[in-house]
Amino acid sequence: MSYDIDNIRDEFPILQRKVGDRQLVYLDNTATSQTPHRVVEEVVAGYEHTKANVHRGVHTISQEATDLMEHTRRRVQGWINARSFEEIIFTRGTTESINLVASSFGQRFREGDEVILTVMEHHANIVPWQLLRQRTGIVLKVVGINDRGELDLDQYRSLFSPRTVMASFTHISNVLGTVNPVKEMTAFAHSRGVPVLVDGAQAIPHLRPDMQDIDCDFYVFSSHKMYGPTGVGVLYGRKELLESMPPYQGGGEMIKHVSFEHTTFADLPFKFEAGTPDYVGLRAYAGAFDFIERVGIESIHEHEKALLDYTTPRLLEIPGLKIYGSQPQKAAVISFNIGDAHNYDVGFLLDKLGVAVRTGHHCAQPLMERLGIPGTVRASFAAYNTFEEADALIAAIKRVVPMLM
Ligand code: PMP
Repeated sequence: MSYDIDNIRDEFPILQRKVGDRQLVYLDNTATSQTPHRVVEEVVAGYEHTKANVHRGVHTISQEATDLMEHTRRRVQGWINARSFEEIIFTRGTTESINLVASSFGQRFREGDEVILTVMEHHANIVPWQLLRQRTGIVLKVVGINDRGELDLDQYRSLFSPRTVMASFTHISNVLGTVNPVKEMTAFAHSRGVPVLVDGAQAIPHLRPDMQDIDCDFYVFSSHKMYGPTGVGVLYGRKELLESMPPYQGGGEMIKHVSFEHTTFADLPFKFEAGTPDYVGLRAYAGAFDFIERVGIESIHEHEKALLDYTTPRLLEIPGLKIYGSQPQKAAVISFNIGDAHNYDVGFLLDKLGVAVRTGHHCAQPLMERLGIPGTVRASFAAYNTFEEADALIAAIKRVVPMLM
């Protein structure tokens, strides 16, 4: 079946809107992707027809709301091939998922224990470990990259020591687009008895991660980057580890019994879901998986790759334009600078032409330091982007360059 881009675009009303008097060209998908109408309708239905607090309710709409939220949990479990629904913890997103692991799993770490990170991590996979370092005295070790923006895997292996207690790295870089060999990296860590967290925030919109194949211990992602609603996300955790971990937050939903003397905690996954969850968002989140499945994750991947392969050489023809990240199998993320022009100025002028890109350090300041730059302009593609939009980006850049040089 051919890729029906018109049908896909019809599902996203925002793509019709204008910015000033220009047609919007939305190329900021790495930061957040747009949401199909059907998913938005589910949010509306959640508020208009089924708004009742989940779990514990005997009345009909509470049970309906619970079933819808739990349906999404099974959907996530199936999509990522987790062994059990108990391994799917709902959170506010990637950031909260990593904080949960660092706070809860990290309680077992002691002064001098070592956690391995990489230089291409998003701040969400750096700062929680630094907060843990402040509390416990752990040591952070950092894997570097080569000039193509690929991890130095020899260095990765050499950083393991008898004190290594955790390796935590991204599946796909939100700046370079680099796809890391997470399965091999996990296997190596496991050969040293070290658990692994994979930050899947940028992978989940482009590929289907299989938990039993990658075999990592934790995998985290956000709904809003994969065509879903904002405010919800996932922590996948291996059941034995989740069972051995103390709760992250205390409150309702996560207990079996509370007295002032002693409280017992709920079973998985609820032990880690204190308080009222965003059950409306979670209900609608299932629709994001439906969208990706309808279009086909492989088709999305191929379409984005075609856009990347079309755009990259054309951008490189522009004098002074430099792209960061050139791994052959990279995701459809193009980070670039033009001569000495400031990334913010480029992004500002592109916006005047209707082209929405992201500028700055992309929450990856250590990577910017490694690259020796303050920031980049970043254009990124999703399922609904077109070759005309790629052309619009290229034409807009050609138009703004003379204004900046
Ligand atoms: N990790 C990576 C690789 C990301 O790209 C992002 C979002 N830019 C995050 C973590 C944080 O995700 P969120 O803000 O949804 O928690």
